[in-house]
Amino acid sequence: MPLALYDTWSRTVRPFAPIHAGRVGMYCCGPTVYDYAHIGNLRTYVFEDILRRVLMRNGFEVRHVVNITDVGHLTSDADEGEDKMEKGSQRTGQSAWAIARRYTDAFIADWHALHLLEPTVWCRATDHITEQIAFIGELERAGYVYRTGDGLYFDTSKQDDYGYLARLDRAGLHAGKRVALGAKKNATDFALWKFSPPDVRRQMEWESPWGRGFPGWHIECSAMSAKYLGTWFDIHCGGEDHIAVHHNNEIAQTEAAYGTRLANFWLHGHFLTLDTNTKMSKSSGDFIRLQTLQSRSIDPLAYRYLCLTAHYRSNLRFNWASLDGAQTALNRLRHLYSTWPDAGRVHPEFAARFDAEVNEDLNLPRALAVLWELTRSNLPPATLKATVDSFDTVLGLGLHEWKPVVSDIPEDVRVLLSERERARSGRDWERADHIRAALVARGWRVEDSEEGQRLVGIATDQTHVGGG
Ligand code: AMP
Ligand code: ZN
Repeated sequence: MPLALYDTWSRTVRPFAPIHAGRVGMYCCGPTVYDYAHIGNLRTYVFEDILRRVLMRNGFEVRHVVNITDVGHLTSDADEGEDKMEKGSQRTGQSAWAIARRYTDAFIADWHALHLLEPTVWCRATDHITEQIAFIGELERAGYVYRTGDGLYFDTSKQDDYGYLARLDRAGLHAGKRVALGAKKNATDFALWKFSPPDVRRQMEWESPWGRGFPGWHIECSAMSAKYLGTWFDIHCGGEDHIAVHHNNEIAQTEAAYGTRLANFWLHGHFLTLDTNTKMSKSSGDFIRLQTLQSRSIDPLAYRYLCLTAHYRSNLRFNWASLDGAQTALNRLRHLYSTWPDAGRVHPEFAARFDAEVNEDLNLPRALAVLWELTRSNLPPATLKATVDSFDTVLGLGLHEWKPVVSDIPEDVRVLLSERERARSGRDWERADHIRAALVARGWRVEDSEEGQRLVGIATDQTHVGGG
């Protein structure tokens, strides 16, 4: 079953074919690093990681570009308010540059904890000011730019199809006049370059042909995607909030400068919402971080598993009970997996069913159902292992590298286990058996395997290999 993906541009699920045979260029809008990422943001990156892994499973070589927004994203997507970075600097008392570094590092740590594959290119907005200025120059030459007292703006009235991605009702927007225009000509016009106020030195500002200032938020993505993927590439992703403003504006810029609508497929992940059905947002301040989960002894990969249980185009309502459920399911899978031997072969029918699900617009909930059905089948354990291993190239749960946490074993049990190990190496079988009985009395069954003693919690079914 060939890969088909839902494309927001056409509002249809359509077959995926790359622009260049065998290769896929994919650009994902990354974090604004004025604060930590919350688990809502991370849901979007998990979806994008799954997409990348599914593309790879279909044999494509993926060039994956992720940007880091470290300047220019104002508190309102409509180019009003303060720069989020300068605001973060006021909040923390650190320089805008220092917080950009700090939150970028924190973000990349979350990235790795969730087993997200390393992008081919990470690119920072502040490292690409020259490219952004050059891009604005192209737009100016093409006649799309006008100047106001506070910056350069893109004139959206010059494009008949502006806003098509979001199916924007431009006439309605103008008639309603609900948006404060300021010096803008049209409600949908957006900043390309903002001037520094004449009497203020901003922490982040650059000289440009138009005056000292900083780039608008949207131009970085058009400029950096053009640099790393070209002006017509395969897939552009982000969260659903980007459809209305940010992605329309990226398309407007690239179309004005290069005549393409940037990407062939536009994919958007739906939001993680709170139990109250409100969206989790950084600016509201009440957000849950990956660290918040870790401080409650929840594994980041349990959160990854939870993300897989909902289709990326449906909202996922977060609550602690479902996260606990995800942790339990993941633990069960890990313990099952750790009991299966190597050297099996992938089961072709189960693999085909799994592929059909993931290729049908990334239906991971149904792919997980195939996995659980497989674990309940009576296929040889080595076949189960090989097949689950192959599924895990998409799921990214790291099953093969998981090791039981030895610290879960109570101290007295650990002492008994090492005594038994000594008895076994001294060939004192009677004593080894005696200790085995003592362990059973404490709720642990010990089995002797090639890797050493395998400890199984009788009540919990927890397995610990090589304990003691
Ligand atoms: P930001 O750091 O605010 O620029 O957002 C980073 C990414 O997270 C973007 O792709 C957003 O669309 C996405 N995002 C923001 N809030 C949520 C949420 N509650 N659930 C899922 N994705 C989100
Ligand atoms: Zn972007």
